[in-house]
Amino acid sequence: MSVTVVGSIAFDAVRTPSGARERMLGGAAVHFSLAASFFDEVRVVGPVGDDFGEAEYAVLHGRGVNTDDIEHVEGGTTFFWSGVYGDNLNSRETLETDLNVFEHFEPKLSQASRAADVLFLANIVPALQLEVRRQCDRARFAALDSMDLWINIAREDLVKAIGSVDCVILNDEEVELLTGRPTVVSGAREILAMGPSAVVVKQGKYGAGIITHEGTFWLPAFPLEQVVDPTGAGDTFAGGFVGYIAAHPDAPIGLELLCRAMAYGSALASFNVEEFGTERVARLTGAEIAARVAELQRITAFTDAPVALR
Ligand code: AMP
Repeated sequence: MSVTVVGSIAFDAVRTPSGARERMLGGAAVHFSLAASFFDEVRVVGPVGDDFGEAEYAVLHGRGVNTDDIEHVEGGTTFFWSGVYGDNLNSRETLETDLNVFEHFEPKLSQASRAADVLFLANIVPALQLEVRRQCDRARFAALDSMDLWINIAREDLVKAIGSVDCVILNDEEVELLTGRPTVVSGAREILAMGPSAVVVKQGKYGAGIITHEGTFWLPAFPLEQVVDPTGAGDTFAGGFVGYIAAHPDAPIGLELLCRAMAYGSALASFNVEEFGTERVARLTGAEIAARVAELQRITAFTDAPVALR
């Protein structure tokens, strides 16, 4: 079994209240791959330029990610993104987005990537998400992410792409922008009506919820003493969430499995934000993830006892 992810492979520059990095490995597909690699074989699809070298491949290979479908564009420059975070770390301003090799990207999936059991369409042009979904028509579970840009300029294609997947993973502001609904629950219900059977709503440092026809589930973010860099938290969450589903090929994809997948996504994301870029997840261990999931379970469970209410 394997997971295929298509999306950005990037160099990022970020400034947070904890410090700054001028140039670090990033991109939605990279963050997703590293997280999902703890659960299954991962194949990453995306373009890079001449500046993407051995050191960057080594991070992916260090986690066993299959990079055969990374397309090296001769003479090209890798996608570059830079952003700055506000003091509360939940607000982020994009300073620069240089599409570079991403501008003319046409995903070419190998036979092995097309045969994926599970597919993640990271944040790219919705028309390309649809095209990749068409190529991976045997995937038993497909999920997608998007962003305000595509909601604003390619809504029609995005709605079609949403209709082609099982699960949509968006943040609360994106759900509100896409649907115009004032609450995430009513917005998520409107997205369910577009076709998917589950909608995950990320709420940054406040956690995430999942809305399905079967029911809903909400989980706070793992409480950390210090957050260094939130970049890639959403994609790392998606990697843990989708990876967990990939690791259970025989389990019915119902609310029970999806809730547990949320816990793994949250645990992975909490590690990602402890250091800059991919630094923490690149040297994470399975034992550390298991311990954090157990701690997340402990701090969110309680036993009720009858009390005379008046
Ligand atoms: P997240 O913090 O989960 O939203 O993901 C941030 C990652 O997304 C960074 O590593 C960026 O390289 C990447 N990214 C930022 N803007 C875009 C964009 N317009 N298209 C694709 N990837 C992007």
